[in-house]
Amino acid sequence: MVYVDRGVGARRARSIIHEYRIRTPKEIDVEGIAALKNVCVREDILEGCEGRLVRKGNCGIITVNTNTREVGKKRFTIGHELGHFELHGKKNSSFICSKKDVQPLGSFNVSPETEANEFAAELLMPEDMFKPQCAQTSPSLNHIQSLAYDFQTTLTATALRYIQYCPYRCAIVVSKENKIKWAKESEDFGYRLESGQKLHPDSWATDFFQGEDLTREMQTVLARSWFQYGRVSSTACLSEQSWSFPNYGEVLTLLFLDDSFDE
Ligand SMILES: [Zn+2]
Repeated sequence: MVYVDRGVGARRARSIIHEYRIRTPKEIDVEGIAALKNVCVREDILEGCEGRLVRKGNCGIITVNTNTREVGKKRFTIGHELGHFELHGKKNSSFICSKKDVQPLGSFNVSPETEANEFAAELLMPEDMFKPQCAQTSPSLNHIQSLAYDFQTTLTATALRYIQYCPYRCAIVVSKENKIKWAKESEDFGYRLESGQKLHPDSWATDFFQGEDLTREMQTVLARSWFQYGRVSSTACLSEQSWSFPNYGEVLTLLFLDDSFDE
């Protein structure tokens, strides 16, 4: 039985950042941090899993899948496995983590996998460094992309972190097959976007699934094109920025309700 506690992952990562006096995103060398903890990182072809931790005594070996190309994804996997090492380590133990286990999208269930993900998110995008950046400019996918570049994280992980800390009413939506795959709203967003909800024909994101190219600019759209739940005025508009990722067959959307939003 592994002991779990909401927030323990983030707290442990924060104390490591503090312990090694890491002050800038560039200094977050996740393999270097692992090495300081007697954990070495190697790559290998892993069948059906994203990462693996084998622990013996106070030492460990993390293996990440060679087939994972994206640097940000690799870093998140290393962070996740290091999270298991720091939080769930018995003297001799091993963890084999699937794609579903290693992911930045939070879960209501408290589990070792959720804790390891929280650890990875805080280690790679520490609140003290990340949060102040969120308020620096008005919301856009361009800003999130530049944060992803600075912190060497995936666009998705960065977008989710952004939603957690931005002082604006925003939501991030990933769509696939013309339906919402998942969505995450900022705390004061005020509307819920349900997984499985079909995209409205007036949304910009849906154009990708009709075979059209998407502009990468922020656009205005009627709010009811997105909000099928909750009250919304028939003339209310919101800002939508949708980027397509044809290789994944997915669209990443940022929705933004500015101060003039009329409910
Ligand atoms: Zn795991």
